[in-house]
Amino acid sequence: MNEIDARLDAFKDFIAADPPVYGSLGMRPELVGLPSDDERLWAEIEPNVFSRPLMFDMTTGSHCEILKVRKGGILSKHRHPTPVHGFVLKGQWHYLEHSWVAREGAYVFEPPGEEHTLTCTDCDEMQTFFFVNGPVLYVDDDNNVTYVEDNLGLIRVFREHFEKVGLGADFVDRLIR
Ligand code: FE
Repeated sequence: MNEIDARLDAFKDFIAADPPVYGSLGMRPELVGLPSDDERLWAEIEPNVFSRPLMFDMTTGSHCEILKVRKGGILSKHRHPTPVHGFVLKGQWHYLEHSWVAREGAYVFEPPGEEHTLTCTDCDEMQTFFFVNGPVLYVDDDNNVTYVEDNLGLIRVFREHFEKVGLGADFVDRLIR
């Protein structure tokens, strides 16, 4: 087994992929994020707020992730300049700025311009799949942008995380398309 195959083999519990059908035309390989109980897949991005990255699309700048928030966790206020799709896998959560509650099984569409602060207060833990179509702009109380989170920044964060927990920084590379 060569070095690259050995690294791919090390990640076989977490992701799967076959070669692209039309690789000769520049088609990227598919990517399957497998169900896993391995805690190392989750990076704590704020207290009690965790993210498991699934895919980074470097052509469109979008990414997919599962967000996990334990009771009392708050994902700081941010603005989306591009659409977001979400699907609640477990538990429930709400935005401080909105009246509705996203419960298990709910689909959420967030139009460009949406600005919100996510929290989980009425269950021990929520998990939600998010498809984020561009950067996330974190804002202060006056809605001034304080931090721009794009794919390059996210990849840097997860590279450090996966190195620290022993999976290896190059696990992130396997999630890039
Ligand atoms: Fe958001």
